[in-house]
Parts: sequence; structure tokens; C-alpha cells
Amino acid sequence: MPHSSKSHPSHERTLVIIKPDGIQRSLINEIIKRHEQIGLKLVGIKMLVPTTELIEKHYTLDPEWYMKTGLKSIKSYTDKGLTPPHTDPLKVTAIILKNLVKYMTSGPVIAMVWQGAHAVQIVRKLIGGTEPLSSNVGTIRGDYVLDSYTMSDGDTRSIRNLVHASGSVKEANDEISHWFKKEEVIDYKLVTEQLVYGVNMEGIF
Ligand code: GDP
Ligand code: MG
Repeated sequence: MPHSSKSHPSHERTLVIIKPDGIQRSLINEIIKRHEQIGLKLVGIKMLVPTTELIEKHYTLDPEWYMKTGLKSIKSYTDKGLTPPHTDPLKVTAIILKNLVKYMTSGPVIAMVWQGAHAVQIVRKLIGGTEPLSSNVGTIRGDYVLDSYTMSDGDTRSIRNLVHASGSVKEANDEISHWFKKEEVIDYKLVTEQLVYGVNMEGIF
């Protein structure tokens, strides 16, 4: 079935945040470059020092996040033969969130909205898995950072993984409206879109 212009896959959007360590490591250009070169379009960008409220809300937009993250973290402790700090997943997540707030409010970040076909999935592929120790080589987290939960948990801090990206289309929509006002996300055309999405690559001659 043909796509209407608004429902065309090229309209999917995702939120990407260059975290404070990404800025401090001078990786702004590298991170932006990887999104641009795959063919995504930057439709919103701002630099800010996040407040505690902004970050707490960001991580709890999904009411399930608290439980899911606690369970995942407990599993990763027990898989390594380690004892989690609590048996209650919500208490485990409370520690994670406290460390995340400290990390994410420690300096400027860059929040961006990227648009393009399968933007959410494509960006997750570009940034790689959450824990840099196991993120694939070739991804941002796999190529530019070497942190692990063993090290970060032992030092009571958040894992430094350079970037955040939305995990699903729903999460993306919620996160974009949390970080950006409607008018801060710009609807415009790139001339190269004809080459990326045009049915007949029209415009060459
Ligand atoms: P992401 O979407 O790949 O960033 O990962 P999640 O949404 O699952 O988690 C968000 C953040 O919570 C991560 O960037 C980590 O800082 C933290 N986090 C998630 N899972 C764990 C975990 O198992 N252990 C610890 N210590 N932190 C975690
Ligand atoms: Mg996530």
C-alpha cells in the first residue's frame, strides 16, 4: 500500500543526547557525523545543562522503566556471580537513577532530534549496546569508550556511555516532547532526500 506523505517511513524521529562525557571527550563532531553520513536529517538541536527534574522525568517517562531496569541490573549481577545491592528491583533502580542524575547534570549536553527511515532502530545500531564493555566495535559506544558495570557500580557512579538514544518509537515521541518545544523541531526538506527516498532518484539530470 502506498504511504501517505506523513506516514512515510522517512518521517520517523528519534531523540539523541550527547552526554557530558561525550562533550568532554571532544566527540561532538564524530557523533553528529555518524548520524549525518548514514542519511539521517537533523531537525532539532540544543545545548543545555540539564536540571535534576529534567533527567528524573526523562528516565521515568516510561512507568515500566523503574522495574525493568532493576530486574535487568539484578540479573547482570547474578549472571556474574555477584550479589546485587538490594533484592528489591525498585531499590536497585533508585541507586542507578541517583547516579544517572549526578552524571547527566554534571555539565552541558547536546540534545538532538534526528529524522529518517527507521530512525529509532538505525540510531540504536549506530550507538551500540548500553554497556561499552560489550558494545560492538564499529558503534559509537564500542569505538570510543571502555566503561563497564563492574567498574562503574564499584565506584558508585553511572556508566559513561557517551550517548542516549530512544529505544522505541513511543519512547522517542515522549522524549522529543519532553526535551523540545514543538516549534524547536523544524520540518524542512534536504535536497539529497530525493536520492535517499525518491522512487526514481529524480533530479540527477
Ligand atoms: P540505553 O537505552 O541503552 O541507554 O539503556 P537503558 O535505557 O536500559 O538504561 C538507561 C541507563 O540506565 C543506562 O545508560 C545506564 O546508565 C543505566 N542502566 C541500565 N541498565 C543498567 C544496569 O544493569 N546497571 C547499571 N549500573 N546501570 C544501568
Ligand atoms: Mg533506554
